[in-house]
Amino acid sequence: MGAGRVTTHQGATAAVLDVIRACGTTSRADLVHVTGLTGATISTAVRRLIDDGLVIETGRAESTGGKPRVLLQLNHAARFAIGVHLDHSGIVYVLTTLGGTVIGRMSRAGAGVGNPPTVIARMAQEVDALIDGSGVDRDRVLGLGLVSPGPLTPAAGMRLTPPAMRQWEDFPLDRAVHEAVGVPVLLDNDATAAALGEHWTGRAGPRSTFAAVYMGTGVGAGLIINGAAYGGVSGNAGEIGHMCLDPDGPECWCGARGCTEALGGPARVVAAACDDHDLRRRAGLDGQPAENGRAEVAGRFAAVARLALRGDTRARELLEDSARYVGLATRALANVMDVDLVILTGPSMAVAGSVYVPVVQAELDRSFFSRSTHGVRVMVSASARTSAAIGAAAMVLQSHLVPHSHGPALPLTTARAQL
Ligand SMILES: [Zn+2]
Repeated sequence: MGAGRVTTHQGATAAVLDVIRACGTTSRADLVHVTGLTGATISTAVRRLIDDGLVIETGRAESTGGKPRVLLQLNHAARFAIGVHLDHSGIVYVLTTLGGTVIGRMSRAGAGVGNPPTVIARMAQEVDALIDGSGVDRDRVLGLGLVSPGPLTPAAGMRLTPPAMRQWEDFPLDRAVHEAVGVPVLLDNDATAAALGEHWTGRAGPRSTFAAVYMGTGVGAGLIINGAAYGGVSGNAGEIGHMCLDPDGPECWCGARGCTEALGGPARVVAAACDDHDLRRRAGLDGQPAENGRAEVAGRFAAVARLALRGDTRARELLEDSARYVGLATRALANVMDVDLVILTGPSMAVAGSVYVPVVQAELDRSFFSRSTHGVRVMVSASARTSAAIGAAAMVLQSHLVPHSHGPALPLTTARAQL
């Protein structure tokens, strides 16, 4: 058998598995219809997936005259994936089934000012606790997806880190975590992972191209194109937080001027709130100097957002100012991608999404270039706070189940060998 033939068989099997995952429950006849592959190819692929324990037969459909169809679905407990979102202010862990359902979740203290080896030793213990607490057989864990604020490089981990995580710059993150935890590790930035998580868990519906705008401490975006995360040359596509919205605007921490983040990111909202004596007191930010704002930006932003949601006019004005800049950046992104859905996600959107949605939606309704052809729907993720960690696990699942899609791939040893 030639190499090309093997690739074709593997491709067909991966495609069949992805359709079964996306459909929930399906049959061989439906697979023929959906994939366009022959009945014989489907039969062979399904047999292989059943033999590998990845797919199970779950009964028969109601007969419509002919032979009742045998129903197929993913064997969710066959494999598991770990997702970790590492940030300065918190580390979120999830353990998911093969289908992306979260069966274990933990939030722990962030990386803070701890040195990377110390933080990674703690992360290994916390991952052990997550696996043990879920009662999952460790041998069935495919790998660990680790995401953090970008930019990243696959070889050296974080590059050009936000100020709060500067000591992680050039630290060999994936190798260190792999050695500490003992499973294959994939790295990506949190916004890209969050978008993949939305796709994998079906929240974006049947569409396979959309964008997720991610707001935690900073602002970013994840791009899903034809069902796969688009990372660009170095995995750092979607940096709308550093799109220039005013060439004469304030200097940004990235070194450029007039970036979305500098004009309207969470740090800007917090700084403006701290400059207003009365607002600072109402938001409970007294005693927290503005000049140290970035280190605890997400928590302070959440305090301002909660105040706005309780009806504070000034706090709401600050959020709406921020939302206008996020809306401009989102419109530019939607124009470039020509999408019809944008999902707002990330911890800051988990709190303030209800303020941002109408402002961003209005900007797209008014000014999206192709608005006469189709609109762009703006919605908040159903799991905005943990979407990056869920997406990190989805990266591992997609690498394993749909290895021919573009995106990061697990090392060939261990996980892939199990398929
Ligand atoms: Zn910038």
